[in-house]
Amino acid sequence: MLFKKVKNIAAKPGKVHVKTGDTVVVLSGKERGKQGKVVAVSPKEGKVIIEGVNVVSKHVKPRKAGQEGGIIKTEGAMYASKVQLVCSHCGKGTRIGHKFMEDGSKKRTCKKCGEVL
Ligand SMILES: [Zn+2]
Repeated sequence: MLFKKVKNIAAKPGKVHVKTGDTVVVLSGKERGKQGKVVAVSPKEGKVIIEGVNVVSKHVKPRKAGQEGGIIKTEGAMYASKVQLVCSHCGKGTRIGHKFMEDGSKKRTCKKCGEVL
């Protein structure tokens, strides 16, 4: 389980604008300006885990014989509202637009350059 259960959910469930595999940029906090790939999304909490961003140290105890305990580095979840999708065409952090294609499918577009993402 990547996400801890939380009682008070600030964000509305199901409102995450990014998905796994997206490259995003952090807009606020100590990780501001950092870019990384989304490795996990929790729509319930409105949180995401980004590769190489918000890395936290976890102390682990050896559970099995031969296994070493110690400190491991792992990415912590952060609010999806703090991140913005990075457009693969113009390379900038952008808001997402939607466009309906001729075949009826809905595609995400970059609000800055208009390219389909
Ligand atoms: Zn763009």
